[in-house]
Amino acid sequence: MNPVEIITTKRDLNELSDDQIEFMINGFTTGDIPDYQMAAFAMAVFFANMSTRETNTLTQVMMDTGQVMRWSPSERPKVDKHSTGGIGDKISIPLAPLLASVGLDVPMISGRGLGATGGTLDKLESIPGFRTNLTIEETQSMIAAVGCVITGASEQIAPADRKLYALRDVTGTVPSIPLITASILSKKLAEGLDALVLDVKCGSGAFMKTRTRATELAQSLVNVASQTGVKATALVTDMSRPMGKLIGNSVEIDEGLSILQDAGPADVRELTLCLASEVMQSALGIDLQTARSRLEQSLASGLAMERFEHMVAAQRGDLKALIPRETCRVFTTNCEGFVQTFDCEKMGWAVIELGGGRRKLGDTLNHATGLEVLVDVGEQVEAGQPVYHIFSNQPLSSHLQNLLAESIVIGHEQVPQSNLIIDRIAEPIKT
Ligand code: URA
Repeated sequence: MNPVEIITTKRDLNELSDDQIEFMINGFTTGDIPDYQMAAFAMAVFFANMSTRETNTLTQVMMDTGQVMRWSPSERPKVDKHSTGGIGDKISIPLAPLLASVGLDVPMISGRGLGATGGTLDKLESIPGFRTNLTIEETQSMIAAVGCVITGASEQIAPADRKLYALRDVTGTVPSIPLITASILSKKLAEGLDALVLDVKCGSGAFMKTRTRATELAQSLVNVASQTGVKATALVTDMSRPMGKLIGNSVEIDEGLSILQDAGPADVRELTLCLASEVMQSALGIDLQTARSRLEQSLASGLAMERFEHMVAAQRGDLKALIPRETCRVFTTNCEGFVQTFDCEKMGWAVIELGGGRRKLGDTLNHATGLEVLVDVGEQVEAGQPVYHIFSNQPLSSHLQNLLAESIVIGHEQVPQSNLIIDRIAEPIKT
């Protein structure tokens, strides 16, 4: 096959055969197809899109470049959640042990910070000793011993995605729905899941800024996951406000722990319960209300917390030595009026400015920095009122102060708070 012919077929808005997609992905993974041809292919897909069948094949072929976890059918159902990433999104931390505490196994493969958003692995590494580079064999042993694990995608999982994502990142081809779908699902489906719930964030702190695009991505993810036999539902959720009050690494572990202690911010608790109920319903065939009440009982009884402590210890983390936050400084607003909305992306850049995220590949993180947001949408504020706590031992740069000032939009009218759950996609659509 000729890669040029495949690139031009897609460029001219035609459907590719399964063999053509397989040829491109396998050739790129082995190095037979060079980066420049793959970049042209990704750009052709970006503009010409793909059908569900093509996206499904792309996902399957990318997944098959690596290993797929196999489980015996007699074991507990295998489930997971994927979030497209948001500011202050620490849901995975309480959700994995919570699901494990109600009879499900959660072999969660997670990621690091991307753009302005933080990553679960970076947050977990605020727990000294916590290992995030488990092999497939170690992941499977963790599931047998604890019922949940949170680790990074090893070289053994979807190597095509690792290579293609790096290329997309530098060729302007990240925001393509078929490419995002295949990237996310090639890794998640390699976990050998029975059920998956997807949290597609929408708003100023999200990848997808509009409801239309977020819903389109959610539907594409549900379509492809369902075609591979995994029961999948998706929630499109609000990211025009940060999740919870704390943003950073160690501070987000603290907030995740508060959910496991049956407390914590209402939005983080609600989304954890909604996403966990969705995947529990899919895996066990029970209704959402029954699922939710079992989950609430597990939080109240401390079983979910116990499971978390067990997971951390088995991944060699020392929870008692959790990195403490740096000095608390107060940041005040110069404006008065009502909080209208947030520019969450700017909050994310502010945490990166503090050293809590990476400016470039390989940067070392400061896990002890972060922010606490002291106000919410609809709240009245006065000039001089504290709006953030900043955890930092360093001088605060003017860039940081500008980002923080611009991240809270204050106006004259009081506005209502947006809904946390914007859409629910429970069924695949055939296209
Ligand atoms: N996350 C991924 O893993 N892949 C994408 O393409 C986008 C977000």
